[in-house]
Amino acid sequence: MTTATATRTATPATDKQKIFFDNLLAEREHHLTPETIALIKAKASSTDMRGLIDELLKAPHKPMQSTNMPEPGIYKRDGQIYELKQNRHTGVLKVSRIEVFGTRVRRRATVLRARVFTTADKITLDDASGFGREYGICCCCFRLLTDPISVRDGIGPVCKAKYFPGL
Ligand SMILES: [Zn+2]
Repeated sequence: MTTATATRTATPATDKQKIFFDNLLAEREHHLTPETIALIKAKASSTDMRGLIDELLKAPHKPMQSTNMPEPGIYKRDGQIYELKQNRHTGVLKVSRIEVFGTRVRRRATVLRARVFTTADKITLDDASGFGREYGICCCCFRLLTDPISVRDGIGPVCKAKYFPGL
């Protein structure tokens, strides 16, 4: 008798699976609560995730409503900063994952769709200040922070007033 199978650690769900899962949650009908979703993403094995994805693929589509679309802006999901920018011609919201290289920001392609983002994912002033202090770059306009007070605060007065009025 071997216990190898019983003690073998299941392979955790991949990031790719989690993103696909998020996309499906946004477009298919389901009854999963945010708590359950968080638990699944934290604990599910790759096999479990494949099963869940299969279930969601069989579920009916949610009615398409443009009102479900988030507004353009800067968002944070799973510790990553994303920019949602509207194409001037098509009106389509493009999602980019923000990466910092030295003093510059790079916009990376991601398969995460705009529909996935909700108001709750919008960056807070704390998120923006934290990003600004870490990289010396404003998290709202991605410009280099040069003023000593802005560097200290992680955000400049203009973007703070524009994006976080009253704070
Ligand atoms: Zn700024």
